[in-house]
Amino acid sequence: MVVMKFGGTSVTDRSAIERLIAIVRAQRQADAQQEGGDARGPVVVVSALAGVTDRLLGIAAEAGAGDTEGARNNLRELRQRHIDVSHVVTDVTHRAHVVEFLNHELDELERIVHALGVLREVSPRWLDALAAAGEILSSRIVAAALSSHGLMAAWIDARRAIVTDAEHTVAAPLLPETTAALMRHVDPPLAAGRLPVIGGFVGATTAGVTTTLGRGGSDYSAAIVGSCLGAAEIQIWTDVDGMLTADPRIVAEPWVVPHLSFAEASELAYFGAKVLHPSTILPAVARNIPVRILNSQRPQAKGTLITSERPASDRPLTAIASKKQVTVVDITSSRMLMAHGFLRRLFEVFERHRTPVDVVTTSEVSVSVTVDDRRRLAAIVQTLSEFAEVACEDEMAIVCAVGEGLRRDPTLVGEVLLGVGDVPLRMVSQAASRRNVTFVIREGSLPTVLGRLHARFFDEGRATTATEARRQPSGATATAERP
Ligand code: ADP
Ligand code: ASP
Ligand code: MG
Repeated sequence: MVVMKFGGTSVTDRSAIERLIAIVRAQRQADAQQEGGDARGPVVVVSALAGVTDRLLGIAAEAGAGDTEGARNNLRELRQRHIDVSHVVTDVTHRAHVVEFLNHELDELERIVHALGVLREVSPRWLDALAAAGEILSSRIVAAALSSHGLMAAWIDARRAIVTDAEHTVAAPLLPETTAALMRHVDPPLAAGRLPVIGGFVGATTAGVTTTLGRGGSDYSAAIVGSCLGAAEIQIWTDVDGMLTADPRIVAEPWVVPHLSFAEASELAYFGAKVLHPSTILPAVARNIPVRILNSQRPQAKGTLITSERPASDRPLTAIASKKQVTVVDITSSRMLMAHGFLRRLFEVFERHRTPVDVVTTSEVSVSVTVDDRRRLAAIVQTLSEFAEVACEDEMAIVCAVGEGLRRDPTLVGEVLLGVGDVPLRMVSQAASRRNVTFVIREGSLPTVLGRLHARFFDEGRATTATEARRQPSGATATAERP
């Protein structure tokens, strides 16, 4: 059985959902042929319609600021957009049920918005109640759309099927509980030949309080579902042809990387390749399930396959990830650094404030770390200041060049750093895996640095198919496979 996850742009309107239906149908037919007619699934995981999560968070902010009128107007637009999209459900009775469901959920959101407007405060718990609505609504529409197009689906309420801790807005799944819940809710429809459709990003605590898994978390939901149900493959359907050699919003002509190892994909996702949520690979690794990244606007493109091992490549680097809006925190303490226990004390502060650090470098008297979650930074700085001098620098960016070639060729790190040219490097790090070299620069220099590195390591030897791929009429991001 295959898990197919469709991101926001892959469900954003009627024609996107029609494409989804064709893709799911083709998968079901391929499975049936392979398994001799009694194939199960696929299980379909969907994001909110494109832009809806941002809208819902905006509505929460408006309500919290007392702008109930603004929040209501935005809710009204969201209601209309979902009702419009529900026309993809061709069966009139099915559609009437869906519209009734949409109205019921949106009425509930209006009540929440009203209450928040009175309280003038939005706790993470209420933020989750609002944000989760996007996937609840989209998944209900997609389930009915599949059924009305002859693919009998079963809508699964993610709040019953994904059990998490209570860390609102960044909840972590509780795997034994989630496995049991998925067995209860998803296995019976699968066994009965129906296609379970579940909203990504959303879960609930054991007490039934709605949670979300963090931005971009639908990929993670798909991986959790795939791993708990022992899927044969997890497919991430999105709006680009696969994992690209660099962020296509910054580099003009990146390539598709045809095959990645789990380790490479993890590094790329962790250091900013948005196409994959950083937690997606872990559940796949645990059960050794291949992950495929595919383009729902160009389903014929081969995409990127991610497996535990990949065929050797003679390219030195595999891809370059980058992450913007990073803060560097410099912690200096001439008294303490050499004393044992200093680093423990320092990292305990970040742990206590539940803030992950990404890159770490040390010198004799100072430690520098990067964080991208600034929510608790003021408190962290205050606590650190009790035993060290602390300075923060915003608007920084992490660049992470990934490739198995870094293990083979000891000169490659030098070549990468040389490729940066005259742009000052704020921090440089290479981990024990020697699969990546990571450095921190000012955010403003990111286009220059990525452009230089991409030109040096990826641009020569480009196949003529690059030009052909760019001429594709789909409107999908122009990319080409590496030769
Ligand atoms: P979805 O809504 O399908 O989950 P996302 O917006 O989360 O899609 O992720 C896809 C986007 O990730 C692409 O449109 C692209 O702009 C961005 N992206 C950043 N880095 C990369 C990369 N290295 N490879 C592919 N896409 C990338
Ligand atoms: N809708 C959620 C978000 O925008 C989750 C996702 O799309 O993966 O973050
Ligand atoms: Mg995403």
